[in-house]
Amino acid sequence: MDHTVFRVKAKEMVDYIADYLEGVGARRVYPAVQPGYLHALLPRAAPAQPEPWDRIMRDVDDVIMPGLVHWQSPHMHAYFGTPTSYPSIMGDFLSSALNVLCFSWASSPAGTELETIALNWVGKAIGMPDCFLNEKTGSLGGGVIQTTASEATLVSLLAARTRTLAALCKLEPHVEPTTFLGQLVGYCSDQAHSSVEKAGLIGMVHMRYIESDYKQSMRGDKLEEAIISDKAQGMIPFWVCATLGTTGTVAFDELREVGNVCQKYGSWLHVDAAYAGSAFICPEYRHWLDGVELADSFAFAPSKWFMVTFDCTAMWVKDTAGLQRSFNVNPLYLRHENEGKAIDYMHWQIPLSRRFRALKLWFVLRNFGISGIQDHIRTCIQRAQQFESLVLSDNKFEVPQSRVLSLVVFRLKGDNSHSERLLKVINSRGKIHVVPSSFKNKYVIRFCVISPKTTSQDILDAWNEIKLCAQDIIIDKIG
Ligand code: PLP
Repeated sequence: MDHTVFRVKAKEMVDYIADYLEGVGARRVYPAVQPGYLHALLPRAAPAQPEPWDRIMRDVDDVIMPGLVHWQSPHMHAYFGTPTSYPSIMGDFLSSALNVLCFSWASSPAGTELETIALNWVGKAIGMPDCFLNEKTGSLGGGVIQTTASEATLVSLLAARTRTLAALCKLEPHVEPTTFLGQLVGYCSDQAHSSVEKAGLIGMVHMRYIESDYKQSMRGDKLEEAIISDKAQGMIPFWVCATLGTTGTVAFDELREVGNVCQKYGSWLHVDAAYAGSAFICPEYRHWLDGVELADSFAFAPSKWFMVTFDCTAMWVKDTAGLQRSFNVNPLYLRHENEGKAIDYMHWQIPLSRRFRALKLWFVLRNFGISGIQDHIRTCIQRAQQFESLVLSDNKFEVPQSRVLSLVVFRLKGDNSHSERLLKVINSRGKIHVVPSSFKNKYVIRFCVISPKTTSQDILDAWNEIKLCAQDIIIDKIG
């Protein structure tokens, strides 16, 4: 494809994308395909000769589209979705064309500096304290874009591990740092995301899952009990991950209590606000940030609810030098004459190379403005409120835990099997898409609203669809 063909085909692609996003609501959101369907439709080897572009695009329509879950559909209510937006798509488009790697300042000065600026903007917009920002030369804090919330959690655990092992080796200089590994123990709530457990596995440390309270929140007293008990056994508590907005029910750990315990025992506190962090752009939800100044690191994913295309996770740390101690290797071929005067993000993350992700974030911030993003968040929450009221108005259903932000968890009253069956029927019909979760041994269905395209009518339609699916189940049971 040369420049001339690209000019034509890329313009066609823009129309294809706009048509797709405009019409995605009319498609089945959940595909009716079985594992292996694509293997039966595509050749077993790459073509030996170039193929015409139009034939490739025909295959996109004929074989790829039918096998997609349409995450941009207004009827997508599964997981925490990932709503994109035109400014963000344009950022990704331009970033793909530039294809610069922003691992050091020298590898892409504008890429590096825009990332710092965009993270300062976002940090201020969601109410992060100044100690996490990088505005003045010599400032200790700073933000970085990681790929995912999982990666941010792992990065924080590894940084905490380095900090603790370094402190222990100072006390016992003749001992190898790895000697202490088996004693390190991290903590999170029993409601934390599985990525926290994975970080513990990769970091080769013990993990404790603190029993959450009736609000599904991790409390300081339970955490402290566990820490005291571990210390008595000779273990070394070193890292705590608090969640603001759990995956199952959007529960919030008691951040100030947890933070105070971390300060008392010298543990690194990481805050995982993957989904809920976007809501902090609205001042009325910032009360959940109370105590954040006690944290060492904090992450949320603008790609979950901020209309920034996946992937993009904003992470801030208070002591960036501490973070860099874990990831700093500096061979000659990566060195440059401005080292020390500028940020080299390669020392803040696991891989070396990194995309120009700040561009799409910057486009979104500028083109929507803070008020545009606030409107989006508040509208999603209103839609979720509407859905919750509809569920509560029907006595066959229950909402075992009240809606928080834009997530409603609901179930059919009675045996778990009713709701399990309901979920299967809903997804097999493909008109809306939902996934389950469990709440106090009850099987619940999560209904999350994150799309700017979901209208009030869509919510009514979704509810009618759910009632219809439930009707079939009850008739089945009686029959
Ligand atoms: N943390 C929480 C609270 C989540 O809800 C999720 C995913 O939904 C994650 C972490 C993992 O996110 P990612 O896919 O960005 O790693």
